[in-house]
Amino acid sequence: RKIRVAVVFGGRSSEHAISCVTAANVLQAIDRDKYEVIPIGISTGGHWVLESGDPERLSITDGKLPEVDVTAMPVLFGSNRELVVNDPGSVPNTLGEVDVVFPLLHGPWGEDGTIQGLLEMTDIRYVGSGVLASAVGMDKHFMKVVFQAAGLATTPYVVVRDRDAQTWRDAVDALGYPVFVKPARGGSSLGISKVDGPDELDAAIAEAQVHDPKVLIEAAAKNPREIEVAVLQGLNGGRPEASVCGEITVSGGGHEFYDFETKYLPEGDDFAALSIPADLPDEVAAEIRAQSVTAFEAIEGEGLARVDFFLEPDGRLVINEINTMPGFTPKSMFPLLWNASGLDYPALVDRLLTLAMTRPTGLR
Ligand code: ATP
Ligand code: MG
Ligand code: MG
Ligand code: MG
Repeated sequence: RKIRVAVVFGGRSSEHAISCVTAANVLQAIDRDKYEVIPIGISTGGHWVLESGDPERLSITDGKLPEVDVTAMPVLFGSNRELVVNDPGSVPNTLGEVDVVFPLLHGPWGEDGTIQGLLEMTDIRYVGSGVLASAVGMDKHFMKVVFQAAGLATTPYVVVRDRDAQTWRDAVDALGYPVFVKPARGGSSLGISKVDGPDELDAAIAEAQVHDPKVLIEAAAKNPREIEVAVLQGLNGGRPEASVCGEITVSGGGHEFYDFETKYLPEGDDFAALSIPADLPDEVAAEIRAQSVTAFEAIEGEGLARVDFFLEPDGRLVINEINTMPGFTPKSMFPLLWNASGLDYPALVDRLLTLAMTRPTGLR
């Protein structure tokens, strides 16, 4: 029989809509001769439903962000690799065994080890990093602790948990302005502000706390070039592979950095340019690719990741972050980087599912 794949998307985080857009593209790219696909949506409220996975409804149209169809049939995960349809008032009937789950979820309750933990508990194989790597990769504070231990240069930062406790203010002043204020566990640039002076700090922290009570304040990289690399776990136990480097250049339209609009909205295309491969000397590109593999191994990543860097004009390289479930939209760097590295979108999806299928369950 075909390999049964549950593609799980949407989710409870601020990145619900981006997950839907990602899923729309992945659902279209999966080889239906080889895989039987079960699209499962998680609503913003955390309800699991058997989705139609209709790509048109799951894309951004006229600036309107898509959502999981909450009116669809509710489903719950059962144990022993079975999915259960939970029709209220009737005896649950089973959707049968699932061979592999593709958790195409971004942000908390999806990219942070929580669903990975649920899948470990039920002994179901899944695409991407395990519990620890997902959790570390989600939290920009612990991510930096691990990167520093692996010898990678990061931007100096301060953690703010309580806006009213004033203890962090001196530490922030010591960073020097501008600073970037971010939700510790966020993505798609949601809740991130560039702050030019102390009077703007409180508003920026409040904005970040809409997404996460834990906030990071980081020194800004100085006039950096932004370089990203996509990483894939090696096949048959081989070392991770790094894609070519890509560069993002943001300018105009009042956009001071690679924000949500320039990442995902059609009008952002005028202000964010992607260069793949990035125009870099060979030895610089090689160093960035090597550091992206170091970062992936440092968190014990599995499956896939995208690693984001800043390259300052004096040649200083700083790692910004790792994303263990990067966006897969047509505008997303991850699939574009692999496309330029010789792996097209359907081949990439097949590779990720193959990696997941060949990975043992349980402690590894
Ligand atoms: P995603 O996961 O979608 O890549 P994110 O929400 O995790 O994004 P970051 O990648 O940390 O957020 O930051 C978003 C953008 O903000 C960066 O791509 C960059 O343009 C800018 N930025 C963030 N931190 C800094 C910094 N310390 N110095 C300069 N620019 C920064
Ligand atoms: Mg990120
Ligand atoms: Mg992200
Ligand atoms: Mg980023």
